[in-house]
Amino acid sequence: MKVFAVAEHRFGELNPLSIELLNLANKLGESNAVVIGKDVAKFAGELAKYADKVWKIEDASLENYNPELYIDVLLQLFQKEKPDVVLIGNTAQGAEYAPYLAVKLNAPIVTDVVGVNATNGLVASRFVMQGKIMVDLKIKSMPCVLTVRQGAFKEGVQKSGKIIDAGIKPSKPAGRKFIEYIQPEAGEVDITKSNIIVAVGRGIEDAANISLAEELAKALGGVVAGSRPVIDNGWLPKDRQVGISGKVVKPKLYLALGISGAFQHVMGMKDSELIVAVNKDPEAPIFGVAHYGIVANIFDIIPELLDKLKGK
Ligand SMILES: Cc1cc2nc3c(=O)[nH]c(=O)nc-3n(C[C@H](O)[C@H](O)[C@H](O)COP(=O)(O)OP(=O)(O)OC[C@H]3O[C@@H](n4cnc5c(N)ncnc54)[C@H](O)[C@@H]3O)c2cc1C
Repeated sequence: MKVFAVAEHRFGELNPLSIELLNLANKLGESNAVVIGKDVAKFAGELAKYADKVWKIEDASLENYNPELYIDVLLQLFQKEKPDVVLIGNTAQGAEYAPYLAVKLNAPIVTDVVGVNATNGLVASRFVMQGKIMVDLKIKSMPCVLTVRQGAFKEGVQKSGKIIDAGIKPSKPAGRKFIEYIQPEAGEVDITKSNIIVAVGRGIEDAANISLAEELAKALGGVVAGSRPVIDNGWLPKDRQVGISGKVVKPKLYLALGISGAFQHVMGMKDSELIVAVNKDPEAPIFGVAHYGIVANIFDIIPELLDKLKGK
């Protein structure tokens, strides 16, 4: 299978999701990265570590993301290279241009994919009904377009791919012009990038107690995240939510404090390398996924942990 993963970058940084797309591409067949921009040599070099081939599409007009120009150059490339599968990040950008591209390719699209199985045809998995049900969708015709959820394909193989200048330029100027980027407020944290997550659930009881978790996260060198009730109550911002309607995380350590372990939460953290759960209910489902469990009151455990960490 010939798989093309379209990389995403902004402010001179490659979105790590681009590598995750290549991890999936390598599972499916020949992996091709496509990187579009004004000067993309640096990104191409990085992508080549995970792809069989990297296609560079460079032009001054491609300096900033523009869906019309992206579609224009991608269609030119795909006309020649005939992909079976096109992978795009399920980001704000990807969600905008992937359906547009699928229509132009006359291809089926599955959005927000969290699993792919290629043993018997191509089957893509995604959640439906606001995350209550996971469905497997059999893809009946190629090429197809898949937008992929961040964090779903973190593991993969290393390669030493060939970098190819596609020699493609936009065929006409875009009707839509880039004006400016508006940065999100400073201080926001990307929980998917942290190796250590201290996650709190309804058991934390009150916004005032979040500072305890923050102190612990700081001592461990991690960040604080939460289950949905914590976010719904406004105790933490929405971008800290773990779960099917939040973020999928795979840190080295996931410390779950006062979280029951509802499947909607577990789907967002079950692949963490080490899960330690503290819950006063010995029957809490979180203990089913935890590697270590402590049946205790979090308000006893957090200060003890802090004492131990500070002692060290
Ligand atoms: C469509 C849909 C999408 C959803 N998406 C998400 C999602 O993305 N993420 C998510 O998290 N949830 C999600 N949910 C909600 C999910 O079903 C659960 O309701 C939620 O995960 C429960 O959060 P919790 O474990 O913090 O709270 P609870 O289920 O109320 O559990 C609190 C736990 O804390 C323990 N506890 C209480 N006090 C203490 C204490 N002092 N010390 C130790 N333990 C204590 C209790 O024993 C209990 O197990 C979704 C639900 C739906 C329907």
